[in-house]
Amino acid sequence: MVTTGFVSLVGSGPGDPELLTIKALRLIQQADVVVFDRLVSAEILDLIPPGISRISVGKAPGKHCVPQDQINDIIVSLASSGRRLVRLKGGDPYIFGRGGEEALVLRRHGIPFEVVPGVTAAAGCSSYSGIPLTHRGLSNSVRFVTGHLQDNETLNIDWNKLADPDCTLVFYMGLANLQTICSELIRAGLPASTPAAAVHGGTTGRQQKVISSLAELANTVNEAGLQSPVTTIIGDVVTLSDELDWFQPEDLENEEAIAYASLNLARA
Ligand code: SAH
Repeated sequence: MVTTGFVSLVGSGPGDPELLTIKALRLIQQADVVVFDRLVSAEILDLIPPGISRISVGKAPGKHCVPQDQINDIIVSLASSGRRLVRLKGGDPYIFGRGGEEALVLRRHGIPFEVVPGVTAAAGCSSYSGIPLTHRGLSNSVRFVTGHLQDNETLNIDWNKLADPDCTLVFYMGLANLQTICSELIRAGLPASTPAAAVHGGTTGRQQKVISSLAELANTVNEAGLQSPVTTIIGDVVTLSDELDWFQPEDLENEEAIAYASLNLARA
């Protein structure tokens, strides 16, 4: 008899374990095996009960990673051997998470699956840094854009279509290309003074937020030493960030957090 397992493609949200859905938590607790990415926070991995196998397929930027084909093979082979598998991803599986590709592979292999949405980085960073993504009178739409480019490729983006002052732009994976992104948007017509924010480690105790203008964002981020993962939010909604700030990252002893705080004081 061939037993086929079941795969749950689960979004873990941006880091704060309390942003997991109840469904995600239940599935993690009932799984036979959890296959997880680098961006799944340590606090969330701590919720996997002892005795459940964990397989990391994560990568750090620029470091060796498990290629997507191999991840697909791992998932298919575990599920084909009858396992109940949770494929745990940062944020939402269907927003720059390659969840669609994995779901297609499962479909083609006749493996049953479900998809559990997660809080995407844009939503997490927005709420925890006081920047509503839309706001009456400031922004009537929002676009999620990838700032990632494959080796030696240029960013394949129609900048003229993006340069709309009524639309909030959220760049994922844009840290390495931040200067290019900002310069191209200015060239396409967005004012250099457009408010812009970069958020590292959004929703976690390690969160750092840098506020600047489109012209200065890349420099400011560089000075603050922000590391990946960073989500960039561009648009007039960023002006609300100070007034709507409420989140205090926990580890304020953390040197990075202190550096960030003094940078902001110096700018105030
Ligand atoms: N599927 C994920 C996105 C994966 S792409 C989601 O829906 O959120 C990876 C990018 O997500 C990172 O380069 C960064 O831009 C963003 N990101 C993920 N977690 C983040 C966090 N805690 N803080 C800031 N950005 C984050």
